[in-house]
Amino acid sequence: MSHKRPEGTDDILPDQIPLWLRFEQIARGVFGRYGYLEVRPPLFEHTRLFLKTSGDTTDVVEKQMFTVPSRSEGEDSYTFRPELTPGVIRALIENGLFHKRPLWKVFYIGPMFRYEKPQKGRTRQFHQFGVEAVGSKEPLLDVETMAVLADVLREVGVKEFALQVNTLGCPDCREAYRGRVRQAMGERLLEYCESCRRRFERNVLRVFDCKVETCARLAESLPAIADFVCADCRAHFEKVLEGLRDAGLEYVINKRIVRGLDYYSRTVYEFTSTALGAQNALGGGGRYDSLVGGMGGPDVGAVGFAAGVERVLMAAKGVEAPAARPDFFVIAAGEEARRAVFRIAQQLRAAGLAGDLDYESRSVKAQMRRANDLRALYAVIVGPEELAKQQAKIKNMDDGVERVVALAEVAGLIGRARE
Ligand code: AMP
Repeated sequence: MSHKRPEGTDDILPDQIPLWLRFEQIARGVFGRYGYLEVRPPLFEHTRLFLKTSGDTTDVVEKQMFTVPSRSEGEDSYTFRPELTPGVIRALIENGLFHKRPLWKVFYIGPMFRYEKPQKGRTRQFHQFGVEAVGSKEPLLDVETMAVLADVLREVGVKEFALQVNTLGCPDCREAYRGRVRQAMGERLLEYCESCRRRFERNVLRVFDCKVETCARLAESLPAIADFVCADCRAHFEKVLEGLRDAGLEYVINKRIVRGLDYYSRTVYEFTSTALGAQNALGGGGRYDSLVGGMGGPDVGAVGFAAGVERVLMAAKGVEAPAARPDFFVIAAGEEARRAVFRIAQQLRAAGLAGDLDYESRSVKAQMRRANDLRALYAVIVGPEELAKQQAKIKNMDDGVERVVALAEVAGLIGRARE
């Protein structure tokens, strides 16, 4: 029987790893410059965490959760994280971190799980990187999170991206707005899809997330929340826009962005790329001022984003991350040297060099070919003659120059040449 990976998953193979590592290095560099610290919550949480926070009428929660039953009777099921914001906030609260400091700026990079219909740019296991700035309601933090994502995109090599921003107001202004939308939608209710008609009853603002073309077109003519926000929310948004201009970040206001999750308030934003096809969202985020308090934490504001690693790497196509070259490949010339080459390789590794040897007793020619294939910087060749004198022949694989040196000097020579 042959085995296949589950639909909607990818194998990230050794030749792709350098690109992933380069991405992570760049992202960590940016996060570090802005003072964000890493958190690593578990890959799965109690299902109720997502039901309570992401909102039980969102697509993610209604249709896309990977849920497994608990084996202990009476205990809630587990769900593999479809996103990380709820897990991060739970971790900050549960571990009492707000008693230590009022503001936490944290980041994460890792796999997420959503039971999607797989297509290009949309898989069931994918990776996100994101930040959460938790503990403040100040608009400049909204701007900071956008600047962080823009910096990562630029440094990774995503050239064409656009930032769209909007405001969703606070729960107070949203209540009044909800009524307006219901009224306008009610006039043409029968033209909407069945899910939207359900949304009309349960959570009317979700109508803006509908992927059905007719609904998307109808939603265009519904009132936009940005036109109905209160004076405080308007002032907050103005400060965000001002901050974006100060930071030199180009943006467009898109009053149709509401984001896919229920917990956002005030600022929401999305980064898109023209280098991608239909799935052109690189990442998005926003402010979620009622989530921390709602989860039993202090009543503090929070803002963050999540972006897709695969999407970003796709949009950054053409950016090369060369695989690291090994420093050495030790070659045994003749049977007597077989044992010695293993010992020599171990000594070189102990000296901090990276390299390999042939374990299969192949010919010198085959060993040399392998050294070439691996793109080793040096071949270290040892035969009976060299062994007797405690020497080795080292060959610079780039220019072909060979020299005979004392075994004790090999590590030092290669180490210096590498620098
Ligand atoms: P969301 O939390 O849905 O806004 O997702 C944030 C970002 O994660 C998106 O903009 C995408 O870049 C990425 N993303 C979300 N879902 C998927 C998926 N199923 N496959 C690949 N990337 C995804």
